Amino acid sequence: MNFDTLGLIPELLQAVAARQYATPTAVQAEAIPAVLAGEDVMALAQTGSGKTAAFALPLLQRMQEAMEDGSKQRKVKILVLVPTRELSGQVGQTIEALAEHLPKKLKVAVIYGGASINPQMMHLRGGADIVVSTPGRLLDLLGNNALSLKDVATLVLDEADRLLDLGFADEIKRILEQLPAKRQNLFFSATFSPAVKKLALGMLHEPVRIAIADLTENLPDIAQRAIAVDADKRTRLLVHLIKEQQWERVLVFVATKYASDTVSNKLKKAGIKAEAFNGDASQGARQHMLTDFKANRIQVLVATDLAARGIDVAGLPAVVNYDLPRSADDYIHRIGRTGRAGASGTAISFILAEQEMHFRLIEKRQDKRVPREILAGFEPATTATHNAESEASPDAPTGGIKGKRKSKKDKLRELAANDGQIS
Ligand code: AMP
Repeated sequence: MNFDTLGLIPELLQAVAARQYATPTAVQAEAIPAVLAGEDVMALAQTGSGKTAAFALPLLQRMQEAMEDGSKQRKVKILVLVPTRELSGQVGQTIEALAEHLPKKLKVAVIYGGASINPQMMHLRGGADIVVSTPGRLLDLLGNNALSLKDVATLVLDEADRLLDLGFADEIKRILEQLPAKRQNLFFSATFSPAVKKLALGMLHEPVRIAIADLTENLPDIAQRAIAVDADKRTRLLVHLIKEQQWERVLVFVATKYASDTVSNKLKKAGIKAEAFNGDASQGARQHMLTDFKANRIQVLVATDLAARGIDVAGLPAVVNYDLPRSADDYIHRIGRTGRAGASGTAISFILAEQEMHFRLIEKRQDKRVPREILAGFEPATTATHNAESEASPDAPTGGIKGKRKSKKDKLRELAANDGQIS
């Protein structure tokens, strides 16, 4: 197989030759013809697979063919969403290099957060043909009317799994709302966790699947458990599990910073190397903790959702939901931290009697029932599992949990309840 057979125009073949790509990589060989044909694509592709050229080459060609001569205002036709500043720079550069010999010149805008917004706004004056951006900053610029997405013909989600890991699900949703409904979508991800799969299937239209024989095969192997327990026995249960299961590392999710401090302190008192991973710790301190966690110097990180975004620890054997997450999406996001990249993992949720209905919604959303367990020595005083089984249906109203954010009042209530409950 070589590049000549993929249907690319000579100017692009010239750019490929200049970069000394001798033969297309597997993802390029499959993606290039599909993208040229205007199809949606869903590809399992790691960094280093040549995925950037796999979407950039055919998109540049399509764009070149569609471009009008002499139009002064450039309209964004291609939007590439990437998780990090580094990747936005890298992808932008690759696209520019591949476009070098094209007769109609293109303008690529590279946008990322963590830097002054003004130069980026200036650069967008007069428009751009291709925008490569991290989601948060793109929304800022859209809010400032610095660009419009209404002419986007192709959306590329690059490293979709990392976008989700870094907590960009909401931002992606808001960006999708601003795009024309009729468009081409290209979706690249190194892993297909349930959350990634859901995002993909929600936005792709009959995609050409690349390296994804059967998506279910790519689902990480996560064993889910749910243990019914009373609030004041949770810390003891956690200590018990850590010792019994001999996890070398475990990520424990709690609802509040207060809980993350309290629980981690109690674990320390029990002789377990634990740290609170929450927004009170500086970025530097958190980075340090992650390094120690990865190096097995910390056994347990007790984290809030917010702080936990972006934690990517290969081979994490277990995740514990000490407090349940507020939404089913957050649940999937949390449990996806274990069982990454083909490794198996365990996700254990502690279920308080009053949270039974909430957990049922979570089960319903993932279409999976997780049997409730009661462990000897940790039997709850009230067995809500029974009541819930017989009396309630998952469709019953539950006070607005269904994937929606709780109101401030709910959060305060939860905070107050949690503070009182931690053992
Ligand atoms: P990517 O997966 O897009 O980050 O690309 C990884 C690296 O592979 C980059 O340095 C590319 O320049 C390089 N590359 C992409 N396609 C090819 C190819 N067909 N042959 C050799 N190297 C390639």
